[in-house]
Amino acid sequence: KAKAAQGAELVYFDEELQAEQRYRFTLEQSIRQGLDNQEFVAVYQPIFSVEGECIVGFEALARWQHPEHGLLGPGEFIPLMEERGLISRLTEQIISCVVPQLAHWHNINPDWFMSLNLSARDIQKPSFIDNLTSLIYAHKLAPEKVVLEITESLLLADWQNASQVLESLKSLGVRLALDDFGTGYSSLSYLHRINADKLKIDRSFIEHWSQTADARLLRTMAHLGQSMNMTVIAEGVENREELVFLGEIGCHQYQGFLSARPMLPEDLEAGGWLL
Ligand code: C2E
Ligand code: MG
Ligand code: MG
Ligand code: MG
Repeated sequence: KAKAAQGAELVYFDEELQAEQRYRFTLEQSIRQGLDNQEFVAVYQPIFSVEGECIVGFEALARWQHPEHGLLGPGEFIPLMEERGLISRLTEQIISCVVPQLAHWHNINPDWFMSLNLSARDIQKPSFIDNLTSLIYAHKLAPEKVVLEITESLLLADWQNASQVLESLKSLGVRLALDDFGTGYSSLSYLHRINADKLKIDRSFIEHWSQTADARLLRTMAHLGQSMNMTVIAEGVENREELVFLGEIGCHQYQGFLSARPMLPEDLEAGGWLL
């Protein structure tokens, strides 16, 4: 009897696995179709100065404008794209939205910067720098207004190559931001060697700021950034108490639902954000 039950379980497990595989296969097909149809777009979250609370720039965040399911967040497609080698096609689509958008907004305010997120695969692609360079020149953008967000895990994936590519990007004049700071495994010597311009403190620390240990950690991270001449940016600020505390410890900029969610360009315009 025990044997029969085990057999049934195996069959069940097998069916579940097959369903999972079918789901992933279908998702991959529709992601590929979405890439072909240019269904991936960027939404833009304003980034504010802590002092004065005015817009200093935007972070471009990927969304999938799915024909049936509406606007989907990165959690629904980025992991599979990373796994199936499709992420650099996403980056290409996002960059081709973002660069013209920034050029357009520069007519409104030439001081605004635009941040976008990179994956390890992007900087492993030899054509990446050339493509970015020609887009920046074609749109007559000031390269220093383009910010590339990288994570500690991207650096660790292939440090040799990453440090070389980041060096070339810096000589092109674009800025680098270390994203999700504090959540990865990199050492302080990496932080020193990549010489990023901005430090983005991950939302998980902000969320728990009122706990003594996290408050100390936040203060230490902010001081670390300041002492390395980096602009310190807090992510995911949801209430005013958090913002006051971040001001006290010397964070320069923030983004968060307290002030603005990521939005489509037309919604930023309609909401009066671009005045
Ligand atoms: P991230 O780069 O750390 O982006 C910040 C995330 O925090 C965004 O989530 C944003 O919507 C969210 N956020 C901002 N303020 C608040 C807040 O006050 N409260 C809360 N709860 N969340 C807030 P999103 O858009 O879902 O993106 C998630 C992650 O997906 C990003 O984290 C980034 O790692 C990745 N991602 C997004 N777009 C791209 C892309 O174009 N390329 C790549 N490679 N990764 C991307
Ligand atoms: Mg980011
Ligand atoms: Mg981040
Ligand atoms: Mg984050």
